[in-house]
Amino acid sequence: MRIVLIGPRGSGKTTIGALIAENLGCRFFDTDVVVEEMEGISIPAIFAEQGEPAFRDAETAVIRNLPPDGAVVATGGGAVLRSSNVQALRAGSLTVFLDADASILAARTGGSSRPPLTSLSPAEEVAAVRTVRLPLYRGAADLCVDTGLLSPEAVIRRIETFMEERQLPVAGREFVTFLEQTRMERGEWRSVEERICGREGMPLHGLYAVIGNPCLHSRSPELFTALFATCGVDGVYTRIEWADLNTIMTAVRTAGLKALSVTIPFKSDIMQYCDEITTDAQAIGAVNTVVRCGDRFVGTNTDWMGVRQPLAGTAPGNAVVFGAGGAARAAVYALQDLGMDVMVLNRTSKRAQRIACDFGCESGTPDAYDPEGTDVIVNATPVGMEGRGGSMLVADDLRAQQTVFDLVYTPPETELLRQARAAGCRCIRGTEMFVYQAQEQMRLFTGIGVDAAQIREILE
Ligand code: NAP
Repeated sequence: MRIVLIGPRGSGKTTIGALIAENLGCRFFDTDVVVEEMEGISIPAIFAEQGEPAFRDAETAVIRNLPPDGAVVATGGGAVLRSSNVQALRAGSLTVFLDADASILAARTGGSSRPPLTSLSPAEEVAAVRTVRLPLYRGAADLCVDTGLLSPEAVIRRIETFMEERQLPVAGREFVTFLEQTRMERGEWRSVEERICGREGMPLHGLYAVIGNPCLHSRSPELFTALFATCGVDGVYTRIEWADLNTIMTAVRTAGLKALSVTIPFKSDIMQYCDEITTDAQAIGAVNTVVRCGDRFVGTNTDWMGVRQPLAGTAPGNAVVFGAGGAARAAVYALQDLGMDVMVLNRTSKRAQRIACDFGCESGTPDAYDPEGTDVIVNATPVGMEGRGGSMLVADDLRAQQTVFDLVYTPPETELLRQARAAGCRCIRGTEMFVYQAQEQMRLFTGIGVDAAQIREILE
């Protein structure tokens, strides 16, 4: 196996990496040093003479050529910015994210000859760069260690303990015993049990699950299992359908799950279990993604990206959102991020007013819809779902210049989309929301980016 250390400059990767390699009696590679040897000049000189992209290309070439086994690797702080680097580094490796408080990092790197990446002061740059890279470090890491107040020896002990515990089947057994009590399909449970409690023990890159009630219908286990296989992630993604969130979270903590997809009815209740919640998720008031880093649960919302990405490039204009539930809140946030003026129309006007108040947009009931003044329509109600049918609009309500995004995804082609297609509108199916929110989840879960087309292909 290989041990890969990632994290910001000043987190102790080189010192700790060299010591681990010495303890294990294996080779140590500092990718920055290898880049300098390969190029024959210093990193500041590469930045000055050829620019950052040339350095990143050299770094990628070095990462590709690292021995796949029996080595300890310390990477440059920005290595995680390229998904292909993360994929190559993680293959067959235990990846450890070393971090420290921004003030400690700034103090440790003071006087460094490395070129600045921004025009900010050194302390501000450390904080800004760390913030941007943090989700990637957390996603790519199998273990997170704060080196701020620990000696290198103590950090190494923590890494060794983690590796020893991975060999013990106890946590895995407890987890599959819990899963057996849930309403999981027997065949699916057996394959999880075999994988976790089998000879190989816990997967190198950890356990993941979608949690909800219900979530037996969720396609996330099928999707992430396929994506993990394609990207060389040795992880097990399962499902937990259970009524009590507290019981779920106790099992999640005990078994040390790496990350969760969160679905109804837990998207707001899960927030109380998170140690940190991103600004987006706070504004929307819902968390659908949880990533564990050390003992901390970090809550994020990727639903709004599922609405934003398919609409990216749409000229800013007037948007109407039908509905005032969780999906509507994510939609309003996404539309405003795209520079749209939003009006929320809901049969219960009080709920629409609440969103209007939270997001500073307009509200009303569906009869306030004005086709002439609407460029983008998002349906965030269940109207049009399989078994219910129907549409929030009639054919005359639609104009060819409009974009219509129906968040309902079963069936993929709803009555509203049929009407919109007949009227010549640009149509976006609800499945696209699932595709793009899952794409962002994959990045947060693993640090690896995948194409939307890859996700569509698996879901077809
Ligand atoms: P929710 O919190 O239950 O909110 C549903 C909203 O729809 C409420 O505002 C409700 O109005 C309104 N509504 C329900 N039935 C209606 C009807 N017959 N006529 C008019 N309005 C009606 O649900 P949600 O979580 O926001 O999800 C809404 C829909 O989005 C779901 O049904 C699902 O199809 C879709 N969705 C898709 C994805 C995806 O990945 N594509 C993800 C999430 C959700 P009241 O306030 O008056 O009750």
